[in-house]
Amino acid sequence: MATPAQVEPKPGRLFIDGKWVNAASGKTFESINPATGQVLTQLADGDARDADAAVESARRAFESGPWAEMSASDRGRILWKIGDLIDKYNEELGTLETLDNGKPIFESCQVDMPMVAEVFRYYAGWATKIQGETVPVRGPFLHYTLREPIGVVAAIVPWNFPLLLASWKVAPALAAGNTVVVKPAPWTSLTALRLAEIAQEAGLPAGALNVITGSSDELGRALVRHPGVSKIAFTGSTVTGQEIARVSADTLKHVTLELGGKSPNIVLSDADIDGAVRGATIGIFYGKGEVCAAGSRLFVERKIHDDFMQKLVDRAKKIQPGDPLDPKTKFGALVSEPQMNKVLSYIEKGKTEGAKLVAGGGRSPVPNGQGYFVQPTVFDAVKNDMTIAREEIFGPVLAAIEFDDVEEAIREANKNPYGLAAAVWTRDIAKAHRIARRLEAGTVWINTYNNYDPAAAFGGYKMSGYGRELSMHALESYTQVKSVWVNLKD
Ligand code: NAD
Repeated sequence: MATPAQVEPKPGRLFIDGKWVNAASGKTFESINPATGQVLTQLADGDARDADAAVESARRAFESGPWAEMSASDRGRILWKIGDLIDKYNEELGTLETLDNGKPIFESCQVDMPMVAEVFRYYAGWATKIQGETVPVRGPFLHYTLREPIGVVAAIVPWNFPLLLASWKVAPALAAGNTVVVKPAPWTSLTALRLAEIAQEAGLPAGALNVITGSSDELGRALVRHPGVSKIAFTGSTVTGQEIARVSADTLKHVTLELGGKSPNIVLSDADIDGAVRGATIGIFYGKGEVCAAGSRLFVERKIHDDFMQKLVDRAKKIQPGDPLDPKTKFGALVSEPQMNKVLSYIEKGKTEGAKLVAGGGRSPVPNGQGYFVQPTVFDAVKNDMTIAREEIFGPVLAAIEFDDVEEAIREANKNPYGLAAAVWTRDIAKAHRIARRLEAGTVWINTYNNYDPAAAFGGYKMSGYGRELSMHALESYTQVKSVWVNLKD
């Protein structure tokens, strides 16, 4: 195993009101390195009392004090500085993310952290551009709107892109003048804790950003129930999203939900085959397949099926899981033992339901046999109604399905409750646009896969959730419109 650069996980504390504090219970829990199975550090095991303290701090900062009074321009300046500090601490943050999540260091340092920095700078620019309008109403009135922040935002984050998905929520929330309580996933809390400190270094006033950690889902539940929280920004599983929608209805919170996916990746016979093979590989194996938008259902036109699958399988077999801290590694460890077991059980299910295993299919013994590594796995001859084609596996398992004509591909692609992303590969550009319109997904990629940008909206159709992250559209869900009427009569 490579030796990590000097990094120091924050031990056992919560970040509330600009200070490091112990959990009210005094309890801690272990953070595990999934590549070795060894303990990285202890984290504070927060409960509802800590959620109360964090929300109270965020509420105070929202209602009065330096953050509440700060100009939009100064808010933007702080966000920009956070982006620059993320760049400055790239190696440290990237190493922390890799140790915590198991993703290759090249992904952490060259993809995730640069995008985190870009997200903060993108929303830094927006801070001064959130504005109302004057409205030509009937009668002797001046009518105008104010676009105001909502209040305290609880950002509940999953483990697959821990700091990146936190930034998608924190940056627009702060740009609009809200305050935030971040609750990272229990398996991957380290970079969110470091972000709190970096934001303070950038000049963010106490209370504007709080980070609370906990080993149980109860901490998230406490935020969802809390009357002091005005909005829940959630990324995670559909089942949890449904619970959040139900429970938050009691206090009528604003809610945005970024949930799971089972995204179809459609390859037509007139596609650039080598490009599509590369795209299909990246689509499922980037991020170990622990990517909500992973192209986990591959639809291949029968005419090119054999040639295409041969090339794909050759590529998949060349991807070797390895030490995530080695800069040459392209495929790391799954995030945890339970997640690995879940993925392995889906592989077994694929076999018993009659799909043809053509690559991978088991654990990978690298580097010391203790980590949670699974081989890049490909199933061919999959039917769209098999479990591995219906349910989100959230791991490196591809289900390849043959089709005969475009209508069939579109129909089968849409025949799934999820609707997060989709892709189509063809050289016929008009056909590509026509298909893009008919795919039920929040993102459609044409002749590419897995592209993200702070300026490009991201979110789901159907059971993949509602609300959009990134882009100017995210700001709509972090603001509310106030209508002001002024009587102009003498
Ligand atoms: P999860 O739903 O179990 O947990 C997500 C977060 O919610 C964690 O911080 C967790 O502690 C918290 N949580 C769990 N139960 C809660 C509850 N009842 N109330 C409040 N908070 C609660 O999901 P996960 O295991 O962390 O992540 C994997 C799932 O997330 C996958 O299904 C994946 O598709 C989805 N995901 C979606 C996107 C997206 O953008 N749509 C991105 C990443 C992950």
